[in-house]
Amino acid sequence: MSKKVVLTGDRPTGKLHLGHYVGSLRSRLEMQDSDDYEMFVMIADEQALADNARNPEKVRGSLLEVAMDYLAVGLNPDKTTIFVQSQIPALYELTFHYMGFINHGRLSRIPTLKDDIREKGFEKELPMSWFTFPVSQCADITAFGAHLVPVGADQLPVIELDREIVRAFNQQYGQILVEPEGLAPSGIAQRLPGIHGPNDKMSKSLNNGIYLSDSSAVVKEKVMQMYTDPDHVKVEDAGKIKGNVVFIYLDVFAPDGPKVAAMKKQYQQGGLGDVAVKKYLIEVLENLLNPIRARRAEFEKNPEQVRDILRAGSLKANQVANQTLAKVRAAIGLNYFG
Ligand code: ATP
Ligand code: MG
Repeated sequence: MSKKVVLTGDRPTGKLHLGHYVGSLRSRLEMQDSDDYEMFVMIADEQALADNARNPEKVRGSLLEVAMDYLAVGLNPDKTTIFVQSQIPALYELTFHYMGFINHGRLSRIPTLKDDIREKGFEKELPMSWFTFPVSQCADITAFGAHLVPVGADQLPVIELDREIVRAFNQQYGQILVEPEGLAPSGIAQRLPGIHGPNDKMSKSLNNGIYLSDSSAVVKEKVMQMYTDPDHVKVEDAGKIKGNVVFIYLDVFAPDGPKVAAMKKQYQQGGLGDVAVKKYLIEVLENLLNPIRARRAEFEKNPEQVRDILRAGSLKANQVANQTLAKVRAAIGLNYFG
């Protein structure tokens, strides 16, 4: 059986946090270790510029940070192609070729867009780069012939639109493009809450994150501030597990299930203090983050090596994307001069 091609990635708008780890990085590592997948991981700098056109420093400054986070968690450039979107010229051209296969009304009805407009304050002025990003995403996906696109559940309508573009293009020109499938996470991977309470998703912009690159001291401080059960005041009080962020994290990250179950029981009965539970969570997170920090420290000493990895990945990505572009140009009949 041939491998399934996977395209995934992140916008370089800051460092990656535990939400990214649970929501996507963890499953990328599994896919990387499986023989069933060939993975392309894209640092989507053009997509980040789509809503940061007047703040390019933020995007440029985050590029190596995201790359170092990738390498630190264990993405391996020998197995996974890590590349930078803006370095693949074919993607711009494919985007343009696909524009004719989707109309303005269809794009404006994507529910994700309505949420973006509200969240990003685009009510008055919606940048065209943002409005058309689903088309550029279709280029990213089809350039690599991706079968699978892991995305957040909120992005599934965008993938559906990308599938429509692919079908319309193929209907016109024959089976040129691969129709992708979106793959949304389930359970906690959909949304790890931030440290301040169960209702907000961990998010860069909400300032409620634990970053993969946070030091031990910072992790300790953040866990100590973490939301628990506000009515659990004295150690002997009975406490609530539901909505208690510390226990939500233990469910996700602690390897010792029975130990967590026993702690939950004691916490609910009374007799287990928040500090004791938090100390255990700190230990669990340190075990996860220590090897990540150690690898990151090595790459931080040698940013030129990280640039080389991105350069090599982008070279490979260009070869694949250029093949798709050549097929698309030939199908449209743009090879006028032979
Ligand atoms: P921003 O505050 O700028 O929106 P963010 O921290 O929410 O940034 P995004 O760039 O929006 O990060 O997230 C990219 C992807 O990472 C999401 O589509 C999702 O797959 C995953 N992700 C982000 N935060 C979480 C989270 N808390 N839980 C699970 N997955 C997450
Ligand atoms: Mg977000």
